Amino acid sequence: MQTAEVVIVGGGIVGASIAWHLTEAGCRNVLILERESHQGKGSTGKSMGGVRAQFATRPNIQMSLYSIPFYASFDERLGQPGGYRGQGYMFVATKQAHLDYLQTNQKLQKSLGLRQARMISRDDIVTTVPQLRADDILGGSFCPTDGFVDPYSVMVGFTTSACEKGATIWRSTEVTAIHRDGAGIIGVETTRGPVSAPVVVNAAGAWAAQVAALAGIELPVEPMRRMLIPTEPFDAVSHEIPMVIDMSNGFHFRPESLGFLLAWNDPDEKMGFNTNFEPAFIEKVLTRAADRVPCFENLAVNPKRAWAGLYEMSPDHHCIIGPVDGLKGFFCANGFSGHGVMHAPATGKMVSDLVLRGNTSVVDNVEVLSPGRFARGELLHETAIL
Ligand SMILES: Cc1cc2nc3c(=O)[nH]c(=O)nc-3n(C[C@H](O)[C@H](O)[C@H](O)COP(=O)(O)OP(=O)(O)OC[C@H]3O[C@@H](n4cnc5c(N)ncnc54)[C@H](O)[C@@H]3O)c2cc1C
Repeated sequence: MQTAEVVIVGGGIVGASIAWHLTEAGCRNVLILERESHQGKGSTGKSMGGVRAQFATRPNIQMSLYSIPFYASFDERLGQPGGYRGQGYMFVATKQAHLDYLQTNQKLQKSLGLRQARMISRDDIVTTVPQLRADDILGGSFCPTDGFVDPYSVMVGFTTSACEKGATIWRSTEVTAIHRDGAGIIGVETTRGPVSAPVVVNAAGAWAAQVAALAGIELPVEPMRRMLIPTEPFDAVSHEIPMVIDMSNGFHFRPESLGFLLAWNDPDEKMGFNTNFEPAFIEKVLTRAADRVPCFENLAVNPKRAWAGLYEMSPDHHCIIGPVDGLKGFFCANGFSGHGVMHAPATGKMVSDLVLRGNTSVVDNVEVLSPGRFARGELLHETAIL
């Protein structure tokens, strides 16, 4: 029978980062199981690739403080391209309440060591993106080390480098059962046969609840559709600008290739595995785009190039990381609620630390992210979500 020290269920960016961090720490017999014939068919290949440290809670900020410098040195460290571009995130406030919120968050960010984030004025904002309609803008916040990565390249880079150091990936292999012996994991059943392993990590993205259920565990992760619209080439706005977030309505955009990538979180979206792109969404987004950037009235969009993917929502919009109480050897790396790309490096390090040493220093109290927090009623709400 095939054996592994650690089995990782799911070969997206999170599973790949966990594999890399485990092999980096000397744990070589790591097996990634991915049911699709290619990696990236889950949320990783659909992501906007945004990375930021401008969050509202300690663990999310601390995870970004590990992840963003990691991305900045990714190419050098792994010998693989990660596509990091530190063009920043610029939050644009139109109410005093927004400014107060950004200011409060920034105090926490700075106290945790994020030196580069700063409050900015309306003039700063207009200087950065002169095409914005600014009559209602009061100011905002900016962090130049935030930016974008290429999620697909990062996933491939982590996987390639992990495999060079001893990990293995089985594609077209679905995990169909998780075996336990009393209170501990003993292995998994797959479409390619059984694998004996004392440790199984759930890195199944939007399908995490189903994988947890195979081990008899209830995990509160729900899928929610998220749509993105790439535009045709457009050069009336600079391609060096940051991710711009209009706090009046949540519309945000960033440069992508020769055009822009447009996003908006539709409050009417329901939970479920729907990944059909809804053509009516284009009008909703373009209206908001032209309202904030009048020259975006001239943007051209090819509906066939737009897409939808899944966010993996947790009840408090924080990831769920750590061992499951009462089932030795079963670990979660789930529920990123739309932040799984930016937090993949930190997640890999944290899970590797927890599996090999039982603790981690990436965040100051990893227990607050544990799967057990829901049963204990200790939720930790993140409000800075896009
Ligand atoms: C439109 C959109 C925009 C986004 N923008 C951002 C952003 O700007 N920044 C950011 O940080 N995040 C963003 N996200 C979220 C981000 O993409 C996800 O959080 C991240 O990709 C999760 O990675 P993952 O590896 O956990 O999941 P996935 O990439 O979904 O990988 C999970 C894998 O598990 C496999 N799997 C499932 N069940 C089984 C099984 N039983 N056996 C074997 N394999 C199985 C699946 O096939 C899949 O490949 C966005 C998401 C979407 C949809």
